[in-house]
Amino acid sequence: MTDQKTRAFVVEHLDPELGPWSALEYACIARESHDRGARFLLSSVPAELQMPADLAATRGLEVEQRSVEVVFADCKERVCLLDPSATEELSPEDGDNFDVFLFGGILGDDPPRDRTSELRKKGYVGRRLGPKQMTTDTAVRVTRMVVHEKIPLEKINYVDYPEILINEHERTEMPFRYVADEKGEPIMPAGMVDLIKNDADKGVGDLF
Ligand code: SAH
Repeated sequence: MTDQKTRAFVVEHLDPELGPWSALEYACIARESHDRGARFLLSSVPAELQMPADLAATRGLEVEQRSVEVVFADCKERVCLLDPSATEELSPEDGDNFDVFLFGGILGDDPPRDRTSELRKKGYVGRRLGPKQMTTDTAVRVTRMVVHEKIPLEKINYVDYPEILINEHERTEMPFRYVADEKGEPIMPAGMVDLIKNDADKGVGDLF
């Protein structure tokens, strides 16, 4: 049986750049993993990529230039790809079936372009987290709740497509599913609401 110490969450970075949105998501995943004693690897980070300073300084972040295929070459069958197109949903028992949980480091897009397929074609076993698209930090949070806290997917409280108040005249709808906190508010990375508000002029679509 895998304990949380040896369990690893891996985000394979699939974009050539690493913008402010991804940096906030990755820093959030690193902090939450670190606080719970789990590993968080950000893999396939190009050597020439300039890591945002705040992200680079975040505790719990392991930056890896190699791809997940190389890092976990000797235990491929213990790697589970979280895949919105998988036919089987993630269950608490999968915490025993797998040691490594793999996510696409892709900005969410609406409608989704299925870039998770880049990881699927490498042949990993896939599991779905329900029918709605989540942000990467939400997908990691939900996976951790299911495999570590053993909470079944359908028992988690979600907030779908929350609206963010930009100013008194404007709101923007986030086209994703989030985990609800104890007040029923969507859990988002620290700094995300401000980033969305500051970039509202550009239109949220350009942020993802
Ligand atoms: N639009 C992207 C998905 C971005 S979400 C696409 O085209 O594929 C970023 C990552 O979060 C995905 O690669 C996947 O690993 C995970 N994820 C998000 N929602 C999910 C869901 N409903 N089921 C399983 N994995 C999900």
